[in-house]
Amino acid sequence: AKSAGGNRFELADPEADARAITRHGLTTALPTALERGEFFIEYQPLVHLGDGSVRGAEALVRWLHPQHGVLGPDRFIPLAEHTGLIVPLGRWVLEQSVRQAREWRELHGGADAMGPLRINVNLSPCQLTHPGLVQDTVDILERTGVEPDALCLEVTESALIGADDDLLKPLRRLAEMGVDIALDDFGTGYSNLANLRRLPVSILKLDRSFTQSMQQFPADPVDLKIVEGIVSLAHSLDLTVTVEGVETGAQAEQLRILGCDTAQGWYYARPGPPERLHELALVDATG
Ligand code: C2E
Ligand code: CA
Ligand code: CA
Ligand code: CA
Repeated sequence: AKSAGGNRFELADPEADARAITRHGLTTALPTALERGEFFIEYQPLVHLGDGSVRGAEALVRWLHPQHGVLGPDRFIPLAEHTGLIVPLGRWVLEQSVRQAREWRELHGGADAMGPLRINVNLSPCQLTHPGLVQDTVDILERTGVEPDALCLEVTESALIGADDDLLKPLRRLAEMGVDIALDDFGTGYSNLANLRRLPVSILKLDRSFTQSMQQFPADPVDLKIVEGIVSLAHSLDLTVTVEGVETGAQAEQLRILGCDTAQGWYYARPGPPERLHELALVDATG
């Protein structure tokens, strides 16, 4: 056998090389992936913590790469942001998702007392600064006949930290139209809680790290206090609180007791094809 240290300096970092090659390959393939129809969307239900009903879904994009198989957004969204493809890709995700929301509504006959299923779509910071955002959204809603009320755009807390008025203006316009704006991954940034009043948001999505700390029993008392504080502040500002990454019934129960409104996570369903959401919502509506 070779001595362990023998090749150490020649084989710089084979894993980093492999990552760089894949990254390079993905960057080359990315611009045409949209034209070739290689992206698809999975939907993960948003569940009301009080009664367990399905109220909507978050759209999560995936890339079916001809060689690498299904790639998650963490693999290609940063590249899409870097290359600028995120703008047309984001527009495509928005249009597909809103169309899907209309289809669900038609399937449910719209007679459902909970109102139409809502659709949540992630917005990259690059889309926020793109001048076409408001008009593209208006066009998509008009083309599909979906009310702005049924749409929620998710923006990460970090994208809005220190945001000036220019950045907030398009979000304000959308919020005035009735589109909900959610602050995603909330609690991970260092935003001033008082600052929330300045932002045109109506939903806080509590980061998964809080949900994870509800896993142990009893949960970390400091985390419990933090979540309790965030929820009461959010409610006093008329914001809805959604929790992500709920994987167990115990977490769901703890978060419900803490006053969170809506939940999302593997405990309810993994992200899946649109038919799956329709089935879940239907089972729900008929008991
Ligand atoms: P996110 O917006 O925070 O989305 C939630 C992520 O948590 C998703 O990962 C989802 O699959 C995952 N998740 C859901 N439930 C659970 C759970 O119970 N446990 C655990 N461990 N994870 C759970 P995904 O689909 O890989 O997406 C990752 C991120 O990619 C998203 O994070 C979002 O920031 C971004 N992303 C996804 N789709 C889009 C898109 O269309 N546009 C943009 N700009 N970003 C997107
Ligand atoms: Ca999100
Ligand atoms: Ca609204
Ligand atoms: Ca999130």
